[in-house]
Amino acid sequence: MSEYNQPVSRIYLDHAATTPLDPVVRQAMLPWLAERFHNPSSLYAGAREARMAIDDARDTLAEALGCLSGEIVFTSSGTEAANLAMIGTALANRGGSRDRILISAAEHHCVIHTRPLLESFGYRVELLAIESDASLSPGAVEEAIGEDVLLVAAMHANNETGAISDVATIYEVVRSNGALYFCDAVQTFGLLPTPSADLIAVSAHKLYGPKGIGALVVRAGIKPQPTIIGGGQEREMRAGTENVAGIVGFGTAVRLAMNDEDRGARISATRDRFEAALSSISPVLTQCNFRLPGHSHIRFSGHDAESMLINLDLLGVDAGSGAACSSGSIEPSHVLLAAGWPESDAKEALRFTFGKDTSLSDAEGAASRVAQAVRRYSSASAKA
Ligand code: PLP
Repeated sequence: MSEYNQPVSRIYLDHAATTPLDPVVRQAMLPWLAERFHNPSSLYAGAREARMAIDDARDTLAEALGCLSGEIVFTSSGTEAANLAMIGTALANRGGSRDRILISAAEHHCVIHTRPLLESFGYRVELLAIESDASLSPGAVEEAIGEDVLLVAAMHANNETGAISDVATIYEVVRSNGALYFCDAVQTFGLLPTPSADLIAVSAHKLYGPKGIGALVVRAGIKPQPTIIGGGQEREMRAGTENVAGIVGFGTAVRLAMNDEDRGARISATRDRFEAALSSISPVLTQCNFRLPGHSHIRFSGHDAESMLINLDLLGVDAGSGAACSSGSIEPSHVLLAAGWPESDAKEALRFTFGKDTSLSDAEGAASRVAQAVRRYSSASAKA
C-alpha cells in the first residue's frame, strides 16, 4: 500500500493563516449567539448587558494594546481595520499639503491593494523597498519621507517570512516628520509586545479567537473618515450593529493570551525542534534578523511549493506558502519578489507556522512527513 493510503492524523502547521478557536473562547461566545441576542444600542436590561460585554472586551483589548478603551474601534476583520486606517485617513485628509503615502512593499494585500483607490483620491503612493527577509529598515523610511507625507504603513511582522521590523525606530522617524504611522500588528498581537503607532490593526482569528472580528486602535486626536456609513457605533468610525459574540470571543482570546506568558517561548521551542529534525534533508531557511516564534519559512532547492503542498496534504500536514492561490496555481508572492528573490526561489517557498497547542511530537512527526514529501518529489522528478 502506498504511503499515501495510510490513514494519518493531521498535523496543522498553518497558524499564520488562522488558528483554531480555543474551547474557552467558544464557551464564552455561545450565550451571545443564542439567548443573549439583544441589540447593544437598545435600552432594556438585556441590551445593557450586551453593551457591558462589549465594554469589557474593549477594556481587555485596551489593556493588552496599551491604549485607552475609547481608542479601540471594532471592525469585521483585520482587513477592514487596515482599510479603515488607509482609506479613512486618506479621505479625512484629502486636499491637504501632505499628499504622499508610503507603503512597505511587504504589506498584506489588505494594505497594498488600497493603492489604486488612494491614488484616485489624488495621493502619490510609493512602495518602500524591503530587505531580503521582508523586513523594513528604518533607513528606507528615512530616505523616502518628507514633509509632504501623510501616512506611512509598515507592518510589525511579515505574515510570510515572519520577519519582525524595528517598528519603534520607524515610528520615531515617521513622527519626527509629522506624518501618521499605521502598523499592521495582525501577526504579532498576543505574541509580542504591542508596537507604538497612531493606528494599529489586529484580528481575533490569529490568536485563537473567532473569524470575522478585528479592531483598529485609533489614537486620540486622529479621526479617519468612516468607510462604513450608518449609525453612530464605534465612536462614529464604524457603523453597524456590533458583532457581540465575536467581540466577546475576541476579548476572551486576548485575556487568554495575556495570561499565557510563555506562549511565545513554547511555540518557538516546537518550531526549533521541527527545524532541527529537518536539518538532514537540507532545507534552505529564510534568514531573518528577528522572526516570529511560530514561523518557519523554508524552501527545498528544486522542489516547487505547489507540488510540495499537495504531497504534504496527502501525508496529513496542513502547511502554506504564504502566497496567493489564484486559478488553482500558486503565484509567486509579491512580498518575496519585492524582497529581491528570483521568481524560481519564490515559487519554492513553504511556510510552516506553529501554534500554542502544537506538541513536540507533532513537530517531529511533521518533519518526518516533510522528508517523505521531499523524497517522493525527488523520485517523481527522476522518473519524469
Ligand atoms: N494583515 C496580516 C499581516 C495578515 O496576515 C492578515 C491575515 O492573513 C490580515 C492582515 C487580514 O486579517 P483578516 O483575516 O482578519 O482580514
